[in-house]
Amino acid sequence: MTDVLVLADHADGAVRSSTLELLALAGGLGEPTAVVFLDGGDDIAAVLEELARHGATAIRTVTTAGRRSHAAIGKAEALARIALEAPPVAVLIGSGDDGTDIAARLAVKLESGLITDAVGARIDADGQLLLTQQALAAAYTVTSQVTRGIPVVTVKPGAVAAEPFPAELRIDPLEPDYSALATATTVLGRTPRESTGRPDLGEASVVVSGGRGLGAAENFALVEALADRLGGAVGASRAAVDAGWYPHAHQVGQTGRAVSPEIYLAVGISGAIQHRAGMQTSRTIVAVNKDPEAPIFDLVDYGVVGDLFTVLPVLTTLI
Ligand code: FAD
Repeated sequence: MTDVLVLADHADGAVRSSTLELLALAGGLGEPTAVVFLDGGDDIAAVLEELARHGATAIRTVTTAGRRSHAAIGKAEALARIALEAPPVAVLIGSGDDGTDIAARLAVKLESGLITDAVGARIDADGQLLLTQQALAAAYTVTSQVTRGIPVVTVKPGAVAAEPFPAELRIDPLEPDYSALATATTVLGRTPRESTGRPDLGEASVVVSGGRGLGAAENFALVEALADRLGGAVGASRAAVDAGWYPHAHQVGQTGRAVSPEIYLAVGISGAIQHRAGMQTSRTIVAVNKDPEAPIFDLVDYGVVGDLFTVLPVLTTLI
C-alpha cells in the first residue's frame, strides 16, 4: 500500500482533532504517515502516541527551521523532501490560514496540483484519487482530480469523522537542511490571544451562533451562557459582526469561518445563503427564530419558533 502523508498539527501536548480527521481520511486511501514538526515545548511523546492510536502507521518527526522563523516556508520544504523520497498518494493538510499557506508553497515546490477545502477523498476503480469539494455556497458538490504531480490537498475540519485505529508506534526522525529562505524572516514576538476558555470555533463539537435577532452586543451573553453550558464555541452572523456586537474572528459563513460541528445552534439568524455556506455541513442543526418563515428552518433538524429572549434562558437552565 502506498503512503499518504498527513501534516500533523498539535498544541499543548495534544493532537488537534482536525489532524485525527485527516488520519481517518488517509486510512481509506493508503498507509497514513504523520509528519510532526517538533515546535518545542509540547509533550511530544503524548502527541506521537495519539497519532499512532489513530492510524498513523509511520511518524516522521522533523526539527523545525527555528522558533524565530516563518514556519510555513520550512514546513513546506521539509514536506517536499519527504514527499520526493517516496511519492505518496497525496499530502493531506488541514484547511485554514496556516494549512493553505503551507499547501500552496508545497504544491509550487513539487510542481503539483493543489486542491483546497476538500470534504472527501476516495480511490476509484482505476486507482485514481478523486476529491470532493463544495462550491457556490455549498449549492454544488464538485469532484476533482489532480492531473499533475503529487496531489496536495487541504481538507476542511469536520468533513470526516475521526476514528481510533491503533497502529504500532514507528518513528523516523528527520533533520532537514533548511534553505536560507526558511530563516529569511524573523519572528520578533508572540502574544497569545486572550483565552475565553471556550474551544476554537473550527474545532468545537458544538457551536452556538447569534445573529441580528439578538438586537445588541450585550445580548450575546445569552449565547455565551448556552455555549458554556454545552462546552461549545460562540459564532456570529455577519450582520451581528458588522454591527460590532461580536469580533470578526467568530463570523461563520462565506466570508467568515466554515464550521462543521456535531451540533450547530443558530439563534436569531435568518439563514442567508452566505451564512449557510459556513455551517450547513454541521451534523445536527438547531435554530431558534421567531419567524416561522425564516429560511433557516429549511435546513434544520430541530427548530424552535419563538422569541430567543424567552427560549434561550429556559434552554440554558434545562441543559
Ligand atoms: P437577519 O437576516 O436580519 O436575520 C435576523 C433573524 O433574527 C430574522 O430571521 C428574525 O426573524 C430573527 N429574530 C429577530 N428577533 C428575534 C427574536 N427576538 N427571537 C428570535 N428570532 C429573532 N452572512 C454571514 O452570516 N456570514 C458570512 O460570511 C456572510 N458573507 C457574506 C458575503 C457577501 C458577499 C454578502 C453579500 C453577504 C454576506 N453575508 C454573510 C450576509 C448575509 O447575506 C446576511 O445579510 C446575514 O447572514 C444576515 O444575518 P442575520 O441572519 O443575523 O440577520
